[in-house]
This record gives sequence, structure tokens and C-alpha cells, in this order.
Amino acid sequence: MTTEPDPCGFGFFMPMKNSEKEKFNTAFPLIERLCAGEKLSVEEYRLLIDSACEETADYAAKLADKKRREIYGTDVYLRGLIEIGNFCRNDCFYCGIRRSNKECDRYRLTEEQILACCDEGYSLGYRTFVLQGGEGIFPTGEICGIVTGIKEKYPDCAVTLSLGEYSYEDYKKMFDAGADRYLLRHETADREHYAKIHPPEMSFDNRMRCLADLKKIGFQVGCGFMVGSPFQTSLSLAKDLKFIEEFRPEMCGIGPFIPAANTPFENERAGTAGLTLYLLSLIRLIKPDILLPSTTALGTVDSAGREKGLKAGANVVMPNLSPVEVRKKYALYDNKICTGEESAQCRECLDRRIESAGYRTVVSRGDIKRNY
Ligand code: SAH
Repeated sequence: MTTEPDPCGFGFFMPMKNSEKEKFNTAFPLIERLCAGEKLSVEEYRLLIDSACEETADYAAKLADKKRREIYGTDVYLRGLIEIGNFCRNDCFYCGIRRSNKECDRYRLTEEQILACCDEGYSLGYRTFVLQGGEGIFPTGEICGIVTGIKEKYPDCAVTLSLGEYSYEDYKKMFDAGADRYLLRHETADREHYAKIHPPEMSFDNRMRCLADLKKIGFQVGCGFMVGSPFQTSLSLAKDLKFIEEFRPEMCGIGPFIPAANTPFENERAGTAGLTLYLLSLIRLIKPDILLPSTTALGTVDSAGREKGLKAGANVVMPNLSPVEVRKKYALYDNKICTGEESAQCRECLDRRIESAGYRTVVSRGDIKRNY
């Protein structure tokens, strides 16, 4: 990971020409308007992002935490993350499990292994299981079989899939098999930026088509993006915020980009915790009832990142439930945390961290509370 000094922690959006005070003065009325439920233009979102500084971020975090408490109190929802395999048909430039990475040690869990993770997760108090993996690991029929198996055994649990791009028909089969939610980060809402971080055979339009289809089918849908990915500008991030405002996802996953060895971006700079935290707050203000995870990537760039994420407006954490022997192999990026611990240890450690931040985990499916 690049460790260049970054005194303010907001990455490259910190032109030093403006003082903190000027930035705060620019951001303040815009944050107030978001808080009042107003929509902003892309240009206004860009101004907000260019005004990232400690004072602005602290103010946004204070209001974001207030909004989250109005709807969710101090509850933090848990999602047990099961990394079902790292084979992938795609070749995203940033991702450590891209198909061209010959160093990636590939694996695929069996249905029995996945169910065993759920058994352990259920006894640890998880009521949502997230099956995530590279794209095209299992035929759609097998995915459906696994989902049905989990729902039969644990009808009180939600199943979330995060398996990439499929056709409308395939998504519909997964939904009919019992899947409740689908996470598909849009990665960037800026078409030109999308083309710079993906190979030509992948398309921005197809990613957006998938998200629209998932919503139409009736999934609770999560989009999301990386913070500080190569070629990202404040305009790209402004478009991400506008997209969230318009698409109105139930969930949104964001985390810093972290370089992965043996990828085209292995020598690029990582995104910062500071900017990620600020964006978490803005997203909470844009859609107050959103389910917003404080991600492992945020905990990787800053050892207290997940606690800070909760204080900035996040209300979900996704501890790892994968078998310990595969955790290191699911290396989307370098230095990923929590790869050596048993699931029970992860759960305990997170509980302590969440309590220390002033929140508490709850045993619940953790569905969205639609107050707005
Ligand atoms: N194949 C699935 C799951 C992808 S992995 C899909 O396409 O949705 C989940 C997320 O990890 C990705 O959407 C991406 O935003 C993030 N990710 C991948 N490589 C990363 C990196 N180097 N740093 C930070 N996040 C990364």
C-alpha cells in the first residue's frame, strides 16, 4: 500500500488554496439543505466534495449520526459475509481476483461448506447471510439451490447475493428461489471513469441495466463505489451522490480503493479514510433510512475505521463468516484485515468495537425502516 504522507486525510481533493474556513463556509449551506431533504445539483455535490476538510466532515458526521439515531437508534445490523469463491470471469483493473491474476489461488466452496457457515453464523446471532464471490462461479441453478437450502433451514434469515452481473431472467430465478437482497456496486456513476477502470468488454450500461432489473424484480438493492480509485475526480464522486439520490437504493457499500498486487493498479495510491467517512455522512443525509455498512476496507486503511464509520452515519457491519482457510485467498485488495480469525472471534471483536463507539449490535434481519 502506498504510504505517502497525507496530512489532512482527505486524499487528492484537498487543494490547499482554500482555507478550512472557506471550505466550511461553502459546504455549510449545502449540508443544511441536504438535511432538510432537498436535492442538490451535480455541481453542488461537487462543491461539497471539494470542500472536504476536518471541520466540514465533523459537521456532516454530527448531523448524519443524528439522522441515523432518529430512525435506527444505536442499533447496528450484522451481516455474515460468506466469500463463496474467487473464480471470476471478469477482469476489473482494480480487483485482486480478476481473471488475469495468475497468482490468485482459486477456490470455490461447496454447498455443504456454505451451509456450515450459515449454521455457525446462526448460532452466533446472524440473521442475514451475504453470499459474495467472483462472477460466474456457480451456474444460476446451483445458486438458486443454495439459496433455497438456506431459506428452508433458516426461514427467519435474509439472504443477500453479491455475485455480479446476470440477465433479468437469472436474477428473477434467484429472487424466486428466496433471495431477499442483492448488492451490486455500480463502482462509478461516471461513464468515462468506468471505462478507465474496467476492460472494454465490460459496460457501464450493463451495470446500470442490472441495477434497474434488480429493483424491478423486487430485491432490496445495494449499489456503491470505491473512494479514491484511480482516475476518480470530484466530479465522478458528485455523480455517485446524484446517482444515489435518484436511484434510491436500500443499501450502499462504499470503501476506500486499496491497491491489489498483480493488478494493473498495484502501484496506485489507496483512497483515504477521511474522504470515505465524509462520503458516508453525505450519503446518510441524502437518504436517511439507507442501510450503510462500515466496511472492512475502511478498517484496513485505518485500524479504527469501522468505529469511525459508525460515528459518521453507518449502521451495518459485515463480519467475515467464511472458513478461515479461504479468507486470505479472497484477496480483492492487499492487507485485508480479519483473515486469520475464527468467525466467533470476529463477532466478539466487533461487538467490543461497536460498543466502544457507543452503539450496539442487534439480533435481527435488519431490514430497512422506511420512515421517509
Ligand atoms: N463480483 C461481485 C462482487 C465483487 S467484490 C460483483 O461484481 O459485484 C465486492 C466489491 O469489492 C466490488 O464491487 C468492488 O467495489 C470492491 N473492490 C474490488 N477491488 C477492490 C480494491 N482493490 N480495493 C477496494 N475495494 C475493491
